[in-house]
Amino acid sequence: MNNRPISLLPDVLISQIAAGEVVDRPASVVKELLENALDAGATEITVRIDGGGIQRICIQDNGKGIPKDELELAVTRHATSKIQSLNELESVMSLGFRGEALASIASVSQFTLSSYPKGQECAYSISNQSGRWLVEPSPASPGTTVDVQSLYFSTPARRKFLKTEQTEFFQCLDVVKRMALANPSVTWLVYRDGKLQSRFQESSWSARVFSILETMANGASKPIDVQTADMQLHGAVGLPDAARGKGDMQFFYVNGRFVKDKLIGHAVRSAYEDVLHGDKFPAFVLFLNLPANEVDVNVHPAKTEVRFRNARAVHQWVRQSIQACLAPSRAVVSLSEPSLGVDGPAVAAPSGGTVWRSSSTPMPAVQVQAKSAALPFLREELADYIQAYRPIESAPRPTAITPRPLVQDTQPNHAVENAEHSEYLGQAIAQVHGIYILALRPDGMVVVDMHAAHERVLYEQFKNALDNQQTISSQELLVPLLVQIDPRLASEVDNGQHLWEKLGFRLSLISTQEIAVRAVPTMLAGQDLSALLQQWLEDLHQYGVAHVLERQRNEWLAGLACHTAVRANRKLTVPEMNALLRSMERTERSDQCNHGRPTWRHFSLSEMDKWFLRGQ
Ligand code: ADP
Ligand code: MG
Repeated sequence: MNNRPISLLPDVLISQIAAGEVVDRPASVVKELLENALDAGATEITVRIDGGGIQRICIQDNGKGIPKDELELAVTRHATSKIQSLNELESVMSLGFRGEALASIASVSQFTLSSYPKGQECAYSISNQSGRWLVEPSPASPGTTVDVQSLYFSTPARRKFLKTEQTEFFQCLDVVKRMALANPSVTWLVYRDGKLQSRFQESSWSARVFSILETMANGASKPIDVQTADMQLHGAVGLPDAARGKGDMQFFYVNGRFVKDKLIGHAVRSAYEDVLHGDKFPAFVLFLNLPANEVDVNVHPAKTEVRFRNARAVHQWVRQSIQACLAPSRAVVSLSEPSLGVDGPAVAAPSGGTVWRSSSTPMPAVQVQAKSAALPFLREELADYIQAYRPIESAPRPTAITPRPLVQDTQPNHAVENAEHSEYLGQAIAQVHGIYILALRPDGMVVVDMHAAHERVLYEQFKNALDNQQTISSQELLVPLLVQIDPRLASEVDNGQHLWEKLGFRLSLISTQEIAVRAVPTMLAGQDLSALLQQWLEDLHQYGVAHVLERQRNEWLAGLACHTAVRANRKLTVPEMNALLRSMERTERSDQCNHGRPTWRHFSLSEMDKWFLRGQ
């Protein structure tokens, strides 16, 4: 304990303390400086990073610049041109507003800012020279350049928390990517230790997304654009194919600001729950816009967390919107859009790859809400991405398939060519190694993993039955099936009556050790169900009916689906195989099995031509 009287802290110390929060590492310096450049309306931004940003961060923009007589204010704590009142804070649209970034950065580095606003006679710079600000003329091009050297030289304790130069550099690069995804009309250049590392040329939004998130290209993502009276969600969600082993392809923005928010993270994760393998991370770039007074961005000094006034509504809406976007399988989509006939031309994605034209929910024509902080430019640019996915009703349909004498001659089944458009997955012709179904489409062939596909179809049917008060069609057994059970499970037969009925079973207890199965779901007819029934009774016994129905439900149904789906090596007849293909076409999410693995693949004739170098 000391006996010092209370006194005000010196200014520099206050800024150094603030720096611990605002600019705790090179990447946060980059973030603050880039936000300033964007707030100044820059269209070209060059980022130079030496020694992981610890040696030097230099950011040059062509924005509106800072007049000479405001330079000293710009680097003064709590001086900003962006807000002036609490009212303005509550509806703030600029990325910055706290007026402390430059002061904080300058307090922990060797700092020079040069600026050349339009109309001024020349550029001026301001730098900290032994504790004082020095303003002098400087050679600089229009806009602003901020040069930050020897970061944390005055606060060595902070320096100790930094990682390797390599790690710090990639953190900085991540920050640039976040900003670049939200600002496709800006050109970004990143130099690392003097060498050009990345360049994102001004482009359409989709081209920007595909250049930064390559896994989303080639049809592996879907555009989303939905809105309510005051919320709007747009961007692109990666299909399960685009998922990754780590969460580095996840970009969520609230009113144009990149956030890492728990609530949002949870909403997105749960939207993917049903289509993605548990240890995979989905890829997405999503922009949520809502009225500024519905969200508090001033929760955290770095502004990466937000607080929603109506958190629950936001959570639910975001989750449902993404879920709805992901649900229709590519095969299902083709059903509702007959013009997507199998002989229609595939559309080239902006990246040059091929995408299936699928538009999940009809894309509503969205007007930008005046009161929401939307980014209209971005939405315009999203339009061409959506366009690429739209069914192209007006597109000229080729009258015939490109002549391919050899292939056509050898096609075993002429009906295939005239196949109904709705038969998107084609006509089954064979079972391959007891695992796959091979189907023909006029434009190539489809290979289906029969177990995975059947599993998903069953799962969705079970879920629908429970959700929509439907009953699964059931078949009476001429001779009841007798199943031995453990006497301690006997009471569960009656407890679960409601469930059995829903799922298409009729069971009754014959003795404490035996049940009679009198009816089974039609789709399970002919299968050995005794092991499954015993497992169910065990589950009911352990968790209780209510719990199984509410909490464990999906897991339980998935287990049921997996158990009852056709096993490898079971011989399927051609009509059976076709029946499976047709039910896949009617089933949501049938592109993936319950574990998130794909259920089918299409091989186009042109792809096969490439295998054999035909026509090259
Ligand atoms: P804030 O961004 O919260 O206002 P900063 O400390 O980051 O606070 O910046 C202070 C002020 O300096 C800004 O309000 C802005 O007027 C000006 N400024 C900073 N960087 C730039 C830039 N790159 N171009 C133009 N003006 C800038
Ligand atoms: Mg700022």
